[in-house]
Amino acid sequence: MDKGQKFSAWYFLIAIIAAWLFAEYVYKPYTESKSEVPYSEFLADLESRTIENVDISDSRIIYALKDNTSPDKRPIVGGVIFTNKKSRQQPGNIKSVVRLPDPFLIIRLSSADVKFGGIAQRDSIMDLFMGILLPMLPLIIIWYLIFRNMRGGSGGIFSFGKSRAKELQGEMTKTLFSDIGGAGEAEVELREIIDFLKDPQRFDKFGAKLPRGVLLVGPPGTGKTLLAKACAGEAGVPFFFITGSSFVEMFVGVGAARVRDLFDQAKKKAPCIIFVDEIDAIGQSRMRNFNSNSEQEATLNQLLAEMDGFEDNNGVVIMGATNRPEILDQALLRPGRFDRQIQVVLPTEEGREEILRIHTKKLPLASEIDLRSIAKVTPGFSGADLANIANEASLLAARRKADKVSMNDFDLAIERVVAGLQRKTPLTPEVRKKVAYHETGHALVACYLPGSDPVHKVSIIPTTKGALGYTMQMPTEDNYIITEQELKTRMTVMLGGRAAELLVFNEASTGASNDLERATETARKMVIEFGMSEKLGPVRYASPSMMYLGNASEVRNDIGEGTAEVIDREIRRLVNEAQDSALNILREHEKILHEVADTLMQKEVINHEEIQAFVDKEKSQTGNDNVSSQESDNVSIE
Ligand code: ADP
Ligand code: MG
Ligand code: ZN
Repeated sequence: MDKGQKFSAWYFLIAIIAAWLFAEYVYKPYTESKSEVPYSEFLADLESRTIENVDISDSRIIYALKDNTSPDKRPIVGGVIFTNKKSRQQPGNIKSVVRLPDPFLIIRLSSADVKFGGIAQRDSIMDLFMGILLPMLPLIIIWYLIFRNMRGGSGGIFSFGKSRAKELQGEMTKTLFSDIGGAGEAEVELREIIDFLKDPQRFDKFGAKLPRGVLLVGPPGTGKTLLAKACAGEAGVPFFFITGSSFVEMFVGVGAARVRDLFDQAKKKAPCIIFVDEIDAIGQSRMRNFNSNSEQEATLNQLLAEMDGFEDNNGVVIMGATNRPEILDQALLRPGRFDRQIQVVLPTEEGREEILRIHTKKLPLASEIDLRSIAKVTPGFSGADLANIANEASLLAARRKADKVSMNDFDLAIERVVAGLQRKTPLTPEVRKKVAYHETGHALVACYLPGSDPVHKVSIIPTTKGALGYTMQMPTEDNYIITEQELKTRMTVMLGGRAAELLVFNEASTGASNDLERATETARKMVIEFGMSEKLGPVRYASPSMMYLGNASEVRNDIGEGTAEVIDREIRRLVNEAQDSALNILREHEKILHEVADTLMQKEVINHEEIQAFVDKEKSQTGNDNVSSQESDNVSIE
């Protein structure tokens, strides 16, 4: 709940108290003031036709006597509001009687010419609530909802400067490290923070200073938010959560006020964690930000001021998360602010398996499912991608009305996440043929080239993302360092598709443009970043890299024209050589190229084993199992 909503809750409370006070001091004395009479007296009054009108409820009958009858002179307190004018003048002549089961009541009343109703009073506090507050309830609810919605969009007109209440009170999260897979390193580093949060005094005693701010840095979906939550969960402390982008408010000063509010609250709840997600949204370098946003700047300044204003070890740990640390304002990274960075990286194969295990814990998995093999074919996937796969797979199983999630569900789910949803519209036979040869080209080059990752799957099912087919390789290990040879191997596989098209159709097509782009980019990096060109030597020609900001590396702008020319020539040489070796491989295995492409056109998808069967068959026919070392000469370019 929001502070503004707490306000309306206050009004509600006040209304109830007012109603109760009213009932207690005004209404009850009045009801008590009525003279309680036995039923026999009511009947007698009826007989004597002295009753003006009656009000009948389930449990009692209240009636007023006519003017001329002798009034009961007992004094009454209050009661003026709900009595009619007549009885107000003569307060004594209201009588109340417990209603007995009387089948003739209505007949008696009508024969005595008594008017029904007219005495606006109820006989219990319950009735008051039912009669007045109940009809108001829908109104109150609608009012409440409208207010909440108003705040939903842009912070709401009534909540300026107030952080959302979740922020204000801090959430007790149940997330634990056991909910996070493959975060080994980051987890170890965060342990220290958790120890601190569990017992800040202990750290104080030893005079140890803890980093005040911890910045989690890593690509999207790697579990940064999750890690921060788990820290709070493990330490059992409140978690104050804000998103940088939520500070982009309508009016200047709102974000700053919000930050101030948040820190005030957090200090009261220490030990605790304040987590600023997507901190780049407010912490963007002020220099970078050309269309200078004064609101963002004010918010950033407030954040810096709050962090500086902390005493040491006051028990509040500020965590931030970003996937673009390079654009952060340097002021944020200074000592005493976010002075510790923890890298959250994409999970390794083992990590991916762990993550899959976590996200399939509650799914009924078929026994044939091997999470490790799924982890194997999903390098580069983030935790969020894997969670997505597990979810897609369970949806597919549900749609099949199956009671177990099968391996096939997972295969389809991976395909979906990798390449978008399968498209149904068929392609022309010519295009299909081109695609089949193209993909087979990639696959065979990968098969015959030593050191290249084995082919997991080749498909010519178009994807919604626009790809007409794809070849999926299965890396044998996670690579942290890639050798020159491996890069050349990759380039050769990338150009295998185009090589096949050239070989079979004698012309290239636009289908290979993405391959060309990737191959060229690889060659370019080899030359200007990795110093892998002998002509240019181990010199870096790329401008300083921008981490996480795309892959394209720029050539420094201070190099001579001659050097630029050599760079171009070297890039061209590398790409050409890769294409040549791809062509050589395919020429040598042209027969199998046609066979595999034919099969692919029939089946649309072929897997590792099927391709391997073709390769093995060829091997046994020619008796040549030394293909690999020959190919090896093709790619080693000196
Ligand atoms: P980030 O903040 O780095 O963008 P999130 O923490 O928001 O990533 O992750 C989004 C979702 O992806 C999480 O809610 C979780 O379901 C899943 N996820 C991401 N990383 C992991 C992981 N290491 N282990 C388990 N689940 C993960
Ligand atoms: Mg996040
Ligand atoms: Zn291709």
